[in-house]
Amino acid sequence: MSVRTSAQIIEGGCLCAAIRYRVLGAPLSSIICHCATCRRACSAPSVAWLTVDRENFELLSGHLQAFQSSHGVVRRFCGACGSQISYEDAHSPATIDLTTVSLDNPNDFPPNLEAWVEHKIPWQAANQSLRQYQRSGDDDDAHHLAEHVMTRRLISSGSQFERDIGYSRAVVEGDWVFVSGTTGFDYATMSISDSLLDQTEQCLKNIQSALREAGAEFADVVRVTYVLPNAARFPECWPILRKYLGEVRPAAMMICAGLSDPRMQIEIEVTARKRAA
Ligand SMILES: [Zn+2]
Ligand SMILES: [Zn+2]
Repeated sequence: MSVRTSAQIIEGGCLCAAIRYRVLGAPLSSIICHCATCRRACSAPSVAWLTVDRENFELLSGHLQAFQSSHGVVRRFCGACGSQISYEDAHSPATIDLTTVSLDNPNDFPPNLEAWVEHKIPWQAANQSLRQYQRSGDDDDAHHLAEHVMTRRLISSGSQFERDIGYSRAVVEGDWVFVSGTTGFDYATMSISDSLLDQTEQCLKNIQSALREAGAEFADVVRVTYVLPNAARFPECWPILRKYLGEVRPAAMMICAGLSDPRMQIEIEVTARKRAA
């Protein structure tokens, strides 16, 4: 896929103008990436990238700082002003990606696809007129796939416990989503009901928001573990469990054990595997 066919010279640079670069010839593709790694690297809700032949890229001035964001992937940026400039993947030695908006004329290269929509921040609108890919796009940017499938993503609910103890609400590793043992605290207020049924409902809501942030849903859950200090009361929870998991029917286990806070009457952990988009 060629974004432009005519021979051309493209120039760009960083915010402070210490970095200037030039590209000779037509870019190979123009995309928007919603992946969590690009987002973090640029502190932006999504990042537009222009893929060009590496041999056509020439640094005219300045010195780019490098950060290895994953095995084989190097992102470069201006050490003075912090502008992100490039993305190089050892799996694609012939190409380099440049941040489209570091170009002097980004208007010349509108993106034609959006990649990693499954990582998209919910409030960030997707452009429905572009092709959408849950993950990497077509072969042109398969190098994005190489990095991001291996990228581990940590999801937090903002709970004080996560900070104090040192864990995540969920960890996403490739297709897998591991949701931590979750109790009936309302994490927004750090309050917990004294009703077992309220706690069960809140547990499942907490799990649901972690799954959603991971790009998964209850339908993807393959295993669930319930922990209750009082096994005799477990049947009271069943109608609520059926409401969320009655159709899904994951592998399950119930353990009777004390929980870390006497107010907690139930704790639930789930493991999910996202199905191919
Ligand atoms: Zn700069
Ligand atoms: Zn990305």
